Amino acid sequence: MLYYTNKFFKYILCNIDAIIMGIIAKGTICNVTGCQNEGVRSLTTNKLDKSDLVVISHNKHVALCKIHYKEWKKNTKKKRMLELSRYNKY
Ligand SMILES: [Zn+2]
Repeated sequence: MLYYTNKFFKYILCNIDAIIMGIIAKGTICNVTGCQNEGVRSLTTNKLDKSDLVVISHNKHVALCKIHYKEWKKNTKKKRMLELSRYNKY
């Protein structure tokens, strides 16, 4: 019985990490310059470096609103494709 409860708690703990990562506290404003929307996603700054979004942030994480998160996703996808085609040339 105890074995099962431990396993269950471990399972919950592992998943809580996954759930919390990328989701941010309510009321956080998007970090993109000039944007006043509520943030829905949190990214590490080095992930954001790959996109063209201009962000003001003093810590390792930045908040993005729905619109900018979409833009970031589009942006990084484009960059990845470019990188791929560059590699394929040689
Ligand atoms: Zn935004």
